[in-house]
Amino acid sequence: MMMPVLFVSHGAPTLALEPGETGAALGKLGQQLPQPAAILVVSAHWETSVPTVSRVRQPETIHDFRGFSDELHKLQYPAPGTPELAESVVLALQQAEIPVQADDARGLDHGAWVPLSLMYPQADIPVTQLSLQPDRSPAWHVALGHALRPLREMRVLIIGSGSITHNLDALRKHPQGEHAPAWVTEFCDWMAAKIADGDEASLQAYRQLAPHAVLNHPTDEHLLPLFVALGAAGDIKQSQRLNSVMTYGMLAMDIWSFDAS
Ligand code: ZN
Repeated sequence: MMMPVLFVSHGAPTLALEPGETGAALGKLGQQLPQPAAILVVSAHWETSVPTVSRVRQPETIHDFRGFSDELHKLQYPAPGTPELAESVVLALQQAEIPVQADDARGLDHGAWVPLSLMYPQADIPVTQLSLQPDRSPAWHVALGHALRPLREMRVLIIGSGSITHNLDALRKHPQGEHAPAWVTEFCDWMAAKIADGDEASLQAYRQLAPHAVLNHPTDEHLLPLFVALGAAGDIKQSQRLNSVMTYGMLAMDIWSFDAS
């Protein structure tokens, strides 16, 4: 059986304490998915020049944010690590002739543990992370995901964790309670239509083709996990949009599941 692949918008770190509709969708997903043997998260918050996988036996919960409550800074997600999955990731990338290295210290950043704390609150499924390459293209990340596809047959749940929109400067200036600007919703609608159509060529060229792409992603590290998920999904025609909530007026919380092999 092939495990589905997910793309999750992880939102603000406060999602862990104020889960709302997105948290409910993540919780439901955790209950409905086949039980994973292990989880591999590709988060927007771990960027390296060479793909790097964490080989830690017991990953620490990294609070890689500032200015939030003590309660949030004290949250722990004590899931075990999985050096075994890390070795499988190394082999899978080597077989695809993609450079890879292992890291014996890296814990779980909030792009991983915040959504996982809502999906799998028991923290009993082994988890590790693979880094992004922010200087590389969407096509590179599709290839990275494609190389990871065999892991799905080992009941590994691959999660790309980023954000479908991510302009934090504009977010800070956005008046509370106001609707999302058209430049945000038009971009979200375009992305949703292309993902639903399985139009990978257009998605990979999103920076040229999508309306207001650069405004929504001044840098694209929060969208790159989507391309890893698309690559791991293969035929993306069986995609499902599981959440389309907008938070803070402009941070879109899209969650996508890709079930095709
Ligand atoms: Zn983030």
